Amino acid sequence: MGVFDSMEHYDYGELHFRRDAATGLKAIIAIHDSRLGPALGGCRFIHYDTEDAAMTDALRLARGMTYKAAISGIAHGGGKSVIMRPAGEFDRAALFRAFGTFVEEIGGHYITAEDSGTSLEDMEVIRTQTKHVTGVKIANGGSGDPSPFTALGVRRGLEASVKFALGRDSIEGLTIAVQGVGHVGYHLCKELRSLGANLVVADIDPLKAERAQREFEAEIVPLEAIYSVECDVFAPCALGSALNDETIPQLRCKVVAGAANNQLAEPQNGDDLFQRGILYAPDYAINAGGLMNVAAEVKGYDLEEVTQRVMGIYDIIYEIAERADHAHQPSYRVADTIAQEKLAKAG
Ligand code: NAD
Repeated sequence: MGVFDSMEHYDYGELHFRRDAATGLKAIIAIHDSRLGPALGGCRFIHYDTEDAAMTDALRLARGMTYKAAISGIAHGGGKSVIMRPAGEFDRAALFRAFGTFVEEIGGHYITAEDSGTSLEDMEVIRTQTKHVTGVKIANGGSGDPSPFTALGVRRGLEASVKFALGRDSIEGLTIAVQGVGHVGYHLCKELRSLGANLVVADIDPLKAERAQREFEAEIVPLEAIYSVECDVFAPCALGSALNDETIPQLRCKVVAGAANNQLAEPQNGDDLFQRGILYAPDYAINAGGLMNVAAEVKGYDLEEVTQRVMGIYDIIYEIAERADHAHQPSYRVADTIAQEKLAKAG
């Protein structure tokens, strides 16, 4: 698909590209919707096989951010950036400085943050070039690493899903399969274990899986086996498209509630889960804790207020589950409807 065809397909008006020969930077900033405020969303720094894959990732992720902000009551639009990780040697600081200049030139229309492959240190480097960055060090007015807040929100959404689907007020004794124990997955395991859940984990990085085993008594299974673990909840916390035509028939859980963005490979996969009687906590609603955290930086950070807001993800997920049940519709469609209602009101 060409650039404009892709923009039309994902309903876009604005897409920015930057190539910087000196540093090897190849970056895309996607701004999906600004009706609720300036676009806010993380910067992803991973290897992409093709430019097309990078662009599609940015387009899909930024659109997700629009819905995420809307459903969470955050006064920001949807944006996202991707930097294609260079194949060979590169100067990381120079690369992120060049990216910071790119963000600055967008003039506050896009505010960046941490995402897969980027770190607090990278945000600090970006900060040397622009003030339109969140997730910087606490000493510099930032809120630090958003992952613990994302994990807290996922835990709350997971509890709401368990309450709705299983009628249980507690997750004690439940078995939860966590795919990916990186930044968010690790903190999620910590939350869940502290509440008495039994954990099964898989990660392509054996050191991360072993850390979860050591610290949270998690059982480690091979990568592909995580889908068919007999469990109460499957929590996808790695990369996107974990829920697809091949994996959904393998699931042996009652609830899917995890942190990953774009969990459904295709919207139809949300219908597949519904037909199988699996309650799916829509990704952009359940994983909004990190966004709530960084959004608070923009207007002056208050930890108590942010924590309360993230805890409120319970109510957001419960309302989606209730409305979906009432309307006999898949949860992902109901979440979209709620977000669209809020956007239409603002528009
Ligand atoms: P991360 O890169 O720190 O962690 C991802 C983990 O998944 C890594 O440990 C990686 O080794 C593992 N992994 C990759 N492919 C895998 C596979 N096929 N099977 C099993 N494990 C695999 O990223 P993160 O910050 O923890 O984010 C995880 C997901 O949550 C991403 O989709 C991200 O977009 C989403 N998310 C993150 C935040 C946040 O605050 N960091 C906020 C919202 C959404």
